Amino acid sequence: MIANAGSAFDHEVDFLVVGTGAGAMTAAIVAHDHGATALCLEKTALYGGNSAMSGGSIWIPNNSLMKKAGVPDSREEALTYLKHVTFGMVPDEKLATYVDTAPEMLEYMLAKTHLRMECMLTYMDYYAEMPGGKPGGRSLEAAHFDAARLGDEFEKMREPALQELVFGRVSMTATEAHHLLARHPGWVSLTAKIMSRYWLDVAWRAKTKRDRTLSLGNALMAPLRLSMMERGIPLWLETDVQDLVVVNGRVVGVIATRNGKKLRIHGRKAVLLAAGGFESNPEMRQKYLPNPTRAEWTSGSPASTGDAIRMGGALGADLDWMHEAWWGPVTVVPGESRARVLVVEKGLPGCILVNKLGQRFVNEASPYANVVQVMYAKNTAQAPSVPAYMVFDASYRAKYPCGPLLPGAQQPDWAIPKHLREGYLKKADTIGALAMQLQINAEGLEDQVRRFNDNARAGSDPEFKRGEGGFDRYYGDEKVKPNPCLAPIEKPPFYGLVVYAGEFGTKGGLKVDTTARVLRRDGSVIPGLYAIGNCSASVMGPTYPGAGGTMGPAMTFGYIAARHAISSWANGGRRGESR
Ligand SMILES: Cc1cc2nc3c(=O)[nH]c(=O)nc-3n(C[C@H](O)[C@H](O)[C@H](O)COP(=O)(O)OP(=O)(O)OC[C@H]3O[C@@H](n4cnc5c(N)ncnc54)[C@H](O)[C@@H]3O)c2cc1C
Repeated sequence: MIANAGSAFDHEVDFLVVGTGAGAMTAAIVAHDHGATALCLEKTALYGGNSAMSGGSIWIPNNSLMKKAGVPDSREEALTYLKHVTFGMVPDEKLATYVDTAPEMLEYMLAKTHLRMECMLTYMDYYAEMPGGKPGGRSLEAAHFDAARLGDEFEKMREPALQELVFGRVSMTATEAHHLLARHPGWVSLTAKIMSRYWLDVAWRAKTKRDRTLSLGNALMAPLRLSMMERGIPLWLETDVQDLVVVNGRVVGVIATRNGKKLRIHGRKAVLLAAGGFESNPEMRQKYLPNPTRAEWTSGSPASTGDAIRMGGALGADLDWMHEAWWGPVTVVPGESRARVLVVEKGLPGCILVNKLGQRFVNEASPYANVVQVMYAKNTAQAPSVPAYMVFDASYRAKYPCGPLLPGAQQPDWAIPKHLREGYLKKADTIGALAMQLQINAEGLEDQVRRFNDNARAGSDPEFKRGEGGFDRYYGDEKVKPNPCLAPIEKPPFYGLVVYAGEFGTKGGLKVDTTARVLRRDGSVIPGLYAIGNCSASVMGPTYPGAGGTMGPAMTFGYIAARHAISSWANGGRRGESR
């Protein structure tokens, strides 16, 4: 239902933001700094959404931090790269807007807020070999942040995803995690430092089990929240927005439920929808994503139920990229509420991904989004690859973490919790017996492992080229020669896991123009309504350009939307309505 005007509003601000992710907070801060009053509404009891659960990286091409570090980049290179990786499916003007504004947004936030980012100099673009691709520097990650600076407000921030924590508690940056995984010189002392920092913080431990030294998504959101608090920008928790208020064809507010009461809230200058995707809405998944699909396969926020897409759609908004997501192969761990994306594990030496016939079908070490796109593309009745099956041997198990399992050297099989040992992790003395447990074709798997091993010993993968790309090797084991992504699967016992076609969240939603205004099916603007983040159709179209490719755009288009809405109003109020 679309509410229409009539009765008065219960509360009024200039710039009304639905959602509390990274893009939402950026927009609220920018609107405030440009003279508007702003308010963020959050339907759950915790702010931060998927953004707080995330890895906290943002992909900003041609940014000042990479320049300072001596990594060259340019507008032209960035645009060339994006055009290639989006296959011409995203309008040039949108890509150009992103490339031009993302570095500006970053500069603004670094100068005006507590946000501090660090350049990931060796974290390469996911398709770095493509024209304009870079071997590092465009992905930035949030610097550590002391949770105490937020005071009591810290407890109201959504916790990091389990897959981002060690022992479900201790947090570290992606750069630190890579250092430990690769066992770079100094990794033992770094481990000791991180663990003692957590366990010896006795006073903080008495308060909460959460790590005081924030990293990743929590470290991105905490400084934004602190910057909001210092500006006095309110954030209302447990305020569930259900409808948009329209007066004379213009969106002027929302209807929300707060403390059991229905409220009409006025967004005098604009309403910004930043309420996330639809990954946790089973009906929308069935309708829009490739099938089979299940809400249990997402690692994204439980609150991403597509509310904003529904509300905008009811006003005649066009939708785009609804069949796409920020894909990643996942393991669904019993007892955990979110799936874990297998970012690192799938490309380490000594494992393969196979279909129901026991056959490989993809370069396992390629970017995670790519792996799921291939899972679906090759999923047939004769050779199902959704789900797929991950197979590894005792050498792999001893050395590497996998899903919820620490390396066997630190967590022998007997120390694996019973609920994981029984049913979740399959284990057998022969490849054939493992195949039986996984209920896949035993002869097919035996034949596949034999062929894979012959090539892996020589460091080659003629069929899928695993380990040849730069991204493949980033998550490989550099101590394994000649190919850091390949080793034979030969040492019993053998292990297996079921792998699903999951994601970090969806990326299809309300179609928007270059200023984030929501568009109708005829291309006209819905006056007063803006959308960013995963409730809007992503500027990245079908691709994932590099780490941070989802929140970089959310923050950038939040910055754009706020400035546009406020300046439109200042320049005569209704300029934002024209086509
Ligand atoms: C484990 C993990 C790691 C990731 N790592 C990265 C990374 O490093 N870099 C990256 O770019 N991306 C990463 N992602 C993806 C990224 O987190 C999301 O794509 C991004 O945060 C989405 O931002 P958003 O603002 O659209 O939504 P969110 O951050 O989810 O914010 C939406 C908010 O709106 C609220 N909301 C929903 N409906 C309503 C309603 N009706 N009324 C009021 N409020 C509502 C939600 O509760 C939520 O708080 C990761 C995701 C996961 C799960």
